[in-house]
Parts: sequence; structure tokens; C-alpha cells
Amino acid sequence: MTGTRPISIIGAGLAGALLATLLARRGWDVDVYEKRGDPRIKGYEGGRSINLALAERGRYALQQAGAEEAVMRQAVMMRGRMVHFLDGRVQLQRYGRDDSEVIWSIHRGDLNLTLLGLADAAGAQFHFNRRLSSVDFDGGDMVFVDDRTGAQHGAPFQTLVGADGAGSALRAAMDGYRPLGERTALLDHAYKELEIPPAPGGGFRIEPNALHIWPRGNYMCIALPNDEQTFTVTLFMPNHGDPGFDTVATPAEARALFERDFPDALPLIPELEADWARNPPGVLGSVYLDRWHLDGRALLIGDAAHAMVPFHGQGMNCAFEDCVALARHLEADSAAGASPRQALAAAFAAFEAERKPNAAAIQHMALENYIEMRDKVDDPDFLIQRALEAALQARHPGRFVPHYTMVSFMRIPYAVALERSEIQRRILEAATQGLDSLDGVDWARVDAEVIGKLQPLPQES
Ligand code: FAD
Repeated sequence: MTGTRPISIIGAGLAGALLATLLARRGWDVDVYEKRGDPRIKGYEGGRSINLALAERGRYALQQAGAEEAVMRQAVMMRGRMVHFLDGRVQLQRYGRDDSEVIWSIHRGDLNLTLLGLADAAGAQFHFNRRLSSVDFDGGDMVFVDDRTGAQHGAPFQTLVGADGAGSALRAAMDGYRPLGERTALLDHAYKELEIPPAPGGGFRIEPNALHIWPRGNYMCIALPNDEQTFTVTLFMPNHGDPGFDTVATPAEARALFERDFPDALPLIPELEADWARNPPGVLGSVYLDRWHLDGRALLIGDAAHAMVPFHGQGMNCAFEDCVALARHLEADSAAGASPRQALAAAFAAFEAERKPNAAAIQHMALENYIEMRDKVDDPDFLIQRALEAALQARHPGRFVPHYTMVSFMRIPYAVALERSEIQRRILEAATQGLDSLDGVDWARVDAEVIGKLQPLPQES
């Protein structure tokens, strides 16, 4: 394509702001419409999920946008899971082999502000207080509402990218025009956020360089550090049952739950009752679509296309990977010499073909990881399998790569990570059956299985 290349992005959240930066730097005329006010003026109004785990896929995408350095300045390293047993014992389970294989806790608001600043500097035009309300796909017009006043504003578009999150209004408009085959699967569990403040004299109250987990079978608490020496605690629990958000409804009932099941966490959360009363339970679920785009007119990315449950800490990482992939496909297809409309349709189709199987794979792994986090990390079978996994990684470098490593420290397609993880899980389960240490492992058999069933991963992944 030559001349101007207009593109309108709906949503200036994490994916919208990163994509705006990547495209504006490549010479696109980017307009971004966001329902909330400008957080640089009003302060960040994110509400939920105060911090997020950033892993290799997300870091790589930030690097592509020149954002990595600014973001990493505020990140807190998490080396592994610090498991808090009910009897008060704690155990650090490392995520990787050393400090080159870690994840990072970052503040959603700070990250969003950094990305908005970069997109702005790259030339993207922002339109805040513009909530997408309807789209005329044939006429090329859209209508926004300013929620402060109720006023409506129209704007034309050439092509639209929906980065407007799990409840995407663009998705609803596309679905109304030509059904997308949407299926939303809500989890019968929800979450509540609480805070561990800094210690009275300053400093973190518990080990800062870890993701803390209190696994309790059907429910759990986690805590991620923030660079201002606080932790954001998230309780994940069923909506119904004992315990469940229906039976643990009042602040007093919450305190009773913590006294019984999280006694070492309770003294760390002095405002438990106030936090409980302030924050309503957050909904969790996955969104699946058969189609992500409407020819060259509209495309969905990030949570709008494939919202997932947060248990692998990959929703944002995956959304960031989407942005890099989309920018690459848009360049490739605009270079191919077709008309702008055809080029966009080809780029959107290629993007969907690449990303949809991978999004489905991480959606699946995220659901599986909830069970692992809340019910397995304190289980002896799980621990011996992790020990064997580490041993096989050392015996077969590049061939037997632990599941968590493939998802969090590499950029191989999620679908490949899922396929290999399933083969590896079967090997681990069979080899450790009935064992309580690695002493009884039949190494010759396991080695033969690894070599027979797993090809070495390409070096660059
Ligand atoms: P969002 O970040 O939701 O941004 C959407 C934007 O669109 C917002 O700015 C919104 O205001 C705007 N918008 C919405 N509707 C409209 C409209 N009609 N018109 C205009 N603008 C609109 N991911 C990780 O990688 N690691 C983690 O550790 C992690 N932890 C999580 C914990 C919890 C509890 C939850 C709920 C999620 C977590 N995630 C995590 C997932 C992550 O938050 C999302 O995947 C990520 O925010 C998706 O980015 P997005 O830009 O697609 O959507």
C-alpha cells in the first residue's frame, strides 16, 4: 500500500496501546478510541487485577515497541512459587533453572501509562471518553458515547481493530452483522483482591521475589509483589459452596475463612474487612470465536478475541504476541501489491490462521493450571514429577523442556507447547508411578521414550 494507511483501534488498554505504538512507528495513521478518560490526566481507573505477571512473550513484544526498558524499571522479579502450607511451612518452587528464567510482576496502571506515552510519541491519535456503541460496516461509520455526558459522536473508519477487552463492543457489533460463532464459558469461580501493605518501618512484609500461593484444594490465594513494597492478594474461590462467595459474603465471614484456612496471611492484610467490602467478586471466563475478522473491515485481538482465565498469567502476554504478529502480517500483505482492502483482508486472515490455534492452546492450558495451582503444588506426586522433569531437562537439553519453561520463558507457539507438554506429562506420570523418589526411575526406558517421542526444539525458539 502507498500513501496514508488509516487504522482505527478500539480500546487503549494493554493491547490497544502497544499495537498503536507498533503501527504508528511503521507509518500507519492510527486513531485510538477509549471509553475511559485519559489516565495521564485523571489517574488510572483500571479497577481490577492491579498487577500482572510478565513473561518472555510479553517482554519480547515490549522490546519490539521500544518499551521494555521503561517497563522493566518498575518490575519485581518472581523466581518461583512460594507455597504456603496450612501448617505454616513455606517452600520456594523455582520456575526455571536460575535467575535467567523468572517472571516479573508489573503494575497494570503504570504499564498502561508507559505504553500510552510511547504510542503518543510515535504519532498515534487518542480519543478518550469514547465508548464504541455501534458500527455501520457498510457505510464505514461508527458511533461513540461519552459516558460523562451521554453525548454521541460519529467517526468514519477504513478498518477497525478491536482491542476492547473481554466484553468487546466491536465483537458484539461484528457478531450482529455476521455471526462470529461466539461461545463464552464462565468459570463457576470468581476472585477478590486484597492488599498487603508495606511493613510498618518500610519494606516488603514477605519475600518479594516470589509469587506466593496458598493452595487449599478447590480454592486458593495468591500474592504478587508491587514495586511500592505492597502485595496484591487475590482469593480465587467457587461462587457457591463451602467455602464459596455465597457463603463467605460478609467481611466477618471473610475473616473467619482467613482465620481457618490462611492463618499466616491474615495478619498481613490489616484492611481485610474494608478491602472485602470495597471490591465485588470479579468474573472469570473464556471467550471462544470461530472467526476473528470481517474481511478487511474489522479484526479482534487480545481479550476481545480470546479472553482466558488468568491462571497461567498469559492473557496479556498472549495479547502482546498478537500485536507483534498483526504488525508483521500487515507489513507483509501491504508489501504484496494488492488493493488496500484486499491487503487488509489477507493480513487479517493470515493473522487469524496463525494466532487462533495458539490462543485456543493457551486458553486450555490456563484452565488446567488452575487445578495445578490450587490443588497440586503441595502434592507429593506433583513434586516428584517436577523433580524428574528437571532431571530430564538436564539429560536431554533442548529436547525435554518443562511445560512451564515452554510457556513462560520461550516463544514457541503455544500449540506446540501444549502438544509437547501432553507427551511429557504422560512420560512423567508413567515413570514415577508408585515411586516416592527418583531412585527407582528406569532411566534407560525413560531416555528411550524421550528420544523416541520428542524431537529437539529449534535453537532460536
Ligand atoms: P484490556 O486490558 O481489558 O483493555 C481493553 C480496553 O478497552 C480498556 O482500556 C477498556 O476501557 C477499553 N474498552 C472497553 N470497552 C470499550 C468500548 N466499548 N469502547 C472503547 N473502549 C473500550 N495476564 C497476564 O499476562 N499475566 C497475569 O498475571 C494476568 N493476571 C490477571 C489477573 C486477573 C485477575 C485477570 C482478570 C486477568 C489477568 N491477566 C493476566 C489477563 C490480562 O489482564 C488480559 O489478558 C489483558 O488485560 C488483555 O489486554 P486487552 O488490551 O486485550 O484488554
